[in-house]
Amino acid sequence: KGGLRFDVAADCFRREPSKHLDRLQSFRMREYVCIGSPDDVADFRERWMVRAQKIATDLGLSFRVDYASDPFFGRVGQMKAVSQKQQQLKFELLIPLRSEEQPTACMSFNYHREHFGTTWGIQDANGEPAHTGCVAFGMDRLAVAMFHTHGTDLSAWPAKVRDILALQPPVAAEAHGEGWR
Ligand code: AMP
Repeated sequence: KGGLRFDVAADCFRREPSKHLDRLQSFRMREYVCIGSPDDVADFRERWMVRAQKIATDLGLSFRVDYASDPFFGRVGQMKAVSQKQQQLKFELLIPLRSEEQPTACMSFNYHREHFGTTWGIQDANGEPAHTGCVAFGMDRLAVAMFHTHGTDLSAWPAKVRDILALQPPVAAEAHGEGWR
């Protein structure tokens, strides 16, 4: 019941050269994956969409959640992207780092239906192709969002945020000596 759940952390590589700090060619993703029945995956994604928004709120980040599509290529790809949006297979938690109009996706909540179950021959208890879904956290983008929101001086971050992240209390300036200021 609930399907199988996995905790994955990986370096990801994407060929999307950019000078922007929030669009890297190599970045770190933390991901929870659910493999199970359609209901298992729907529940899993629903729970994570609520939990992830609470995490973002607790971290003092401003955001909105919207449905989205992956950048499929070509004419067929365009159709896929439209259908992905219509079926609401992908949601993103967007944070306005560069602008309100072009916010940055820092988390995503994905339902792959039976795509990977079929591709990899994974079956559920009834012998049907398993459904899968995942929630992904872009660690680099979230770090950028934290600095963008709270500034680069960690000791000036809100006490509640410092608490959640278990940051050490600010070190007294004198301890560093004059040279470090
Ligand atoms: P996606 O599979 O595209 O939904 O990516 C999952 C998450 O990885 C996104 O929500 C971002 O937080 C992060 N991410 C995707 N592409 C990049 C990139 N080029 N640079 C940094 N983070 C990225």
